[in-house]
Order: sequence, then C-alpha cells, then structure tokens
Amino acid sequence: MKRQRTAALILAFSLIFVPAAVAADQAAKADDQAKILEAFHGISSHVLIEIVKELASDKYEGRLTGTPSFDACAEWTASLLKKWGVKPAGGDGSYFQTFPNPYTIVLPDCEVSLRLPLKNTKDTITKYYRYEDEFMPGGTSGSGEITAEAVYVGYGITAPELGYDDYKGVEVKGKIVLMEREIPVSPDVPRDVFAKWRPYSFHQYKLENAFAHGAKGLLYNYGPICNPNNAYREGFVYAHIGDAVVADAFAGSGKKHEDVVKAIEKTLKPMSFPTGKTFTIRTATVHHPEGIGRSVLGFVEGSDPNLKDEVIVLAAHLDGQGLCPAVMPSANDNATSVAVILGTAEALSRCPVKPKRSVLIAAFGAEEQGVAGSEYYVNHPVFPLAKTVAIINLEAAGSGDKFDATIGQGYAKLWDYLDKANRTYLHRVTETGENSFIARPRQDVARFLWKGIPGLTVSSFGFDPGRPTYHNTHDNMSLITPEIMEDMARMLFLAVMDMGSADVLELR
Ligand SMILES: [Zn+2]
Repeated sequence: MKRQRTAALILAFSLIFVPAAVAADQAAKADDQAKILEAFHGISSHVLIEIVKELASDKYEGRLTGTPSFDACAEWTASLLKKWGVKPAGGDGSYFQTFPNPYTIVLPDCEVSLRLPLKNTKDTITKYYRYEDEFMPGGTSGSGEITAEAVYVGYGITAPELGYDDYKGVEVKGKIVLMEREIPVSPDVPRDVFAKWRPYSFHQYKLENAFAHGAKGLLYNYGPICNPNNAYREGFVYAHIGDAVVADAFAGSGKKHEDVVKAIEKTLKPMSFPTGKTFTIRTATVHHPEGIGRSVLGFVEGSDPNLKDEVIVLAAHLDGQGLCPAVMPSANDNATSVAVILGTAEALSRCPVKPKRSVLIAAFGAEEQGVAGSEYYVNHPVFPLAKTVAIINLEAAGSGDKFDATIGQGYAKLWDYLDKANRTYLHRVTETGENSFIARPRQDVARFLWKGIPGLTVSSFGFDPGRPTYHNTHDNMSLITPEIMEDMARMLFLAVMDMGSADVLELR
C-alpha cells in the first residue's frame, strides 16, 4: 500500500515537473522497450527445435555443400527468411552467394583391415576394423582398394627450411602411410614460430605430400571422424583411424605410439619406420570437381539513414559432413546454430523497433570443406568489410546448459554486449577463452578476424553424452537441448538490438 502511494507520488511529481517533450520521449522509450521484450519472448524453443529436426533429417543427406541435397536445404533455409520478410542479400536479388566447390560423395562399401600371419604357415587371417568406432572412410578419398605395408611417417611433413622431413630414410612408394594430424608444434608457441609450421598443418598438404612421395594410401590418425575437408587424388585411398588401428600397427615394434609422438614434439626430429604390417583400405567414392557451393545470405535493414550502412554479421555454417557413407546428421554441429540465427532473424524481422545498423544473417556453406564459404564471402563481401563492424559466429549452439565464447577474451567488449543480455535476462553460466583458430582457421569467424573485423564464436556446452559425437552419426537429435537454443537466440537478439543502436560502437 505504502509503495503504491510512493509510486503515485513520483508519477504525479514527474507529471508536474518533467517537461512534456521529455515525458513523451520517456514514454516512447518505454514503449520501444516493451516491443523489444515482446519480440524477445516470442523466440521459442518449439520453433527452433523443428528447424534442427528438418536440417538434420535424412532427406538432406548430411548437407554436404555442392550436393543437390545441400541445395535443397539451402532453398528451405532461404524460404524461411523470405517468409519472415528478411531481405535477400545474395546475388541477383536471391538469397544465395555461389562459389566453386568441388566435393566427393562417399558410397557404401568401405573397409580397413589388417592381415595377420598365422603361426608356422604361409596363411593369414584378416582382422576387420569396426566402422565408426575404429575407422571412417576418408571424406575425399579416391575410389579403390589398396593392400600394402603401412609405413609410419609421423606428421607427414617435408619442410627443408625447417630441417624437418618425416619421409627421410623411409620408402613409401606403393605403400600405405600412417600419419598423425596437425604439426609437431602447438599453436601456443610464439606466433612467428607457429607461422613457419602452419602451412604444413593442413590436411590437404599432408595428403598431397604423401601422394607426391608415391604412397598409394593413407591411414590418418584423426578420430576416427568423418571429414570432407581434404584434397582429392584419383586412386589415392585413405581412411581416418583411431587408437585400435594405431596400436595394431605399432604392436611388436618395440615402440609405444604415445612415446614416439612425444619424442617428435620434444626433439623436432622425425621417427618414421616401416611397421611391417599389411593393411587394406577400401573406399568407394564419386568426385565432383565441377561442384558449386552456396551460402544463404539475408539482411534486416537498419533504421538509421547513416548507420544502416554498417553491418553486424550473425553467422553459422549450414553445411555438414554429408554421407560417410552413413548420413552424418550434423545436428549440434551445426543445425542448432543455424536454427538460432534464424530464430534471431525472425525476432529482428517481427520486432517493430529496428536496430540502427543493418544485420546480415549468413548461413555459410562449405565450412566443413575448409571454411570455403566464408573465405569466398570476405573476398566478395555484400557489405563493404570496412563497414562490417562485427561478426558473431555460432558453433554447436544446441547442447548443454552453458554458454561459451571463444576469442571472447580478445574481444571482451563485443562479448560484453552478449553477456549483458545474459546477466540481465537469462542467467546462464558462461565461459570465455582464446582459440587457436586465429593461427589456424577452422571456423568461419577466423576469415573475418584475419580481415581485422572483431568477432567471436559462441557455443553451448555442459552435456556429456558419454561417447564421441564430433563428426559422426552420434551428432544427432539425442544431443539437443531446445532451451539453450532459445536462450542463445534471445541473447543474440538483445545484443544485436543493443549494439545495433549504440551511437558509438567501440569493440576493439
Ligand atoms: Zn561446425
């Protein structure tokens, strides 16, 4: 009762003493705020989860960029933007930015096996490795079968200027090479040291170098996961393998794999050796060098005649890993993130109050094939990069109960716009950190950071499914937490409204 009277007194006081123009301005601001909160509350997990279900469904066959099924999924995504009145920002008045993008379809019929000699006979028995748990066919493997001795070649690097050659002293012609991923130095070493090794860290380099040395196949110690980001060489077959295959290759050699890797990293001296083990790799694929990729681009125009030339990018990669040969649903990585930016786009579109700056909704293609869609975009930007004020990129946005921002420490002011919305309305636990994708681009945001645009990647975390789910069939609907997507879209929406309307936006 007392409080009501006090409120009434304040109101009466303000009616008497606040000039009419100021009062009208305050009322308009309160009205805008009410509209913004209405749009905020309109973001619903029920809508977002349906988007994830659609994108992760079998009909899009894992969304490998370049394939007809990816195109169908891009069309479906664009149809939502159109329905909500988000304007097209692609070429020729469409929602699509297209770019050259070769791709490889992995067909059923794959194998990794080991020939084991039977004691006191010339016979062998064959040990077959289990699909997915122990091996996955290479996403850009050539089609065919190779049976040969495996030669361990460490990191598979030939770098004369660094005095380092994993192929020195071993013969790999006609053989299978067994290789580690990455490079023997970590991205945490000084930037100039890492820069010298960086070109050798790419999958493409490693495969090409093995091919150039005459190897016929590759057992790639990476995962085993499905990964369409590699070079294609006709007749060169490869598979991703894990600990089971590595252990068998090293068995009886007197060397422990773990120790060998540590020794290479410590001494930067190769430790290659023929394993004496005969493996078979079989993969069936069809390569499409003529492939065309697409990114889906839409924008919400800013309300200020001057500031609308500036743009905030909300990005998430639309593509997945395709067929390997099972469908990779790529549900959390990255259908959830697309759902979140779409949910944010719908709210921005529906809200009668618009940010002063424009917002570009970018569902990039071919991230999984080497961040190719975003690379093409930064070289063919729809909005000038000089006017691109920030990028908020989403990765794996739909599993768990916490928010994570990588490079959030590097761009603390940008992160603070998001965190402010979280602190005020959502109250999720958050974590920020640095990430090596500055040194080694593995996410779309890196392409923008390299151009000097402030950016970060937001993810969710906090759910442990008890098994690997990265780039395999287990990245499916069972991982998804609808509520975290709703909160993330709400956080993005408020942050973008806030950043988009700041008179001065200082993010560096
Ligand atoms: Zn991803």
